[in-house]
Amino acid sequence: MPVKNRFAEMQDEITRWRRDIHENPEILFETHRTSALVAEKLSAFGCDEVVTGIGRTGVVGVIKGNGSSNKVIGLRADMDALPITEATGVDYASKTAGAMHACGHDGHTAMLLGAARYLAETRNFDGTVVVIFQPAEEGGGGGKEMCDDGLMERFGVQEVYGMHNWPGQPLGSFAIRPGAFFAAADHLEITVTGKGGHAAKPHETVDPTVCAAQILTALQTIASRNADPVSQIVVSICSFETSSHSFNVIPSSVHMMGTVRTLSPENRDMAEQRIVEIANGVAAAMGATVDVHYKRNYPVMVNHDEQTEFAADVARAVAGECADAPLVMGGEDFAFMLEERPGAYILVGNGDTAPVHHPEYNFNDDAIPAGCSWWAEIVERRMPLN
Ligand SMILES: [Zn+2]
Ligand SMILES: [Zn+2]
Repeated sequence: MPVKNRFAEMQDEITRWRRDIHENPEILFETHRTSALVAEKLSAFGCDEVVTGIGRTGVVGVIKGNGSSNKVIGLRADMDALPITEATGVDYASKTAGAMHACGHDGHTAMLLGAARYLAETRNFDGTVVVIFQPAEEGGGGGKEMCDDGLMERFGVQEVYGMHNWPGQPLGSFAIRPGAFFAAADHLEITVTGKGGHAAKPHETVDPTVCAAQILTALQTIASRNADPVSQIVVSICSFETSSHSFNVIPSSVHMMGTVRTLSPENRDMAEQRIVEIANGVAAAMGATVDVHYKRNYPVMVNHDEQTEFAADVARAVAGECADAPLVMGGEDFAFMLEERPGAYILVGNGDTAPVHHPEYNFNDDAIPAGCSWWAEIVERRMPLN
């Protein structure tokens, strides 16, 4: 069975919604315009209930099918953009300097809106669909905030599904994997404090730059010498800033920021512990002091076996096949929803485009019929009318 004809008909209209959202990107929880647009459309489609303000700017729509079962399925899209200046050159490019839909969440929102419209029109399922539009996927934990606001309990969600477009994967094709899929993504900050002074008299200082550089180098041994080589782990220092901006002043402190990506609780615990030990040990050896902040952000996103198999079957029904997706060391806020309810997250091909988070990236509107059809088929096959 190919894509649903209704979505082929609706593609131009869904594309217009997508480009409107693209032109007006909003970051993290500031998705006020986007959330209002989503809520307005869900109401216009005839959703049985539309609720705003869940997880600050999150929006939820409820669509009851024909039939009397108590089954409830959640379908989730993200709405937020990134702090990137767009360089696509398209005529619907971002009107907001320094903000851009560079991860395709404009496409995710538009596709789930399209599916919601179809499901509200047809109601060809036995149960209830809860469409979930979350803010702040890009590091802000908007999905977690929606869960903390009681999303799953309040709407009785029993299973939850998510989708992300994927550049480099054939357009409109699907890929998925069971178990750990996206990495835990933690934040790391290290401040090294020494004693500043004249660069020509280093012996009178405790140079925090030299100390921080050795800590940075020693941190590389977590991946190369502490983790099992067949496991996956990333420890990256991405910012290194001293308190001096001169040729001849040794600074008093250095601030480093970075990220740790892991796919197992063991590696996550190990990395946190080793970072603290290494930073403190090297600082002690150099006579400096150190302050380490390790913030556990997104957990590992784990696809549940049964729902993953079902999601892959639906993908095969829509696109003819479903590929085995590779492990991804990126983080994904949907991990929190999959910790609360069984479900699955799938990748839909964006074709040969720039990668996500790149200023030339753009969501491919030709993925819309496949993406929308997958959503609709998830519902109609999981909760069939007798
Ligand atoms: Zn992203
Ligand atoms: Zn994304």
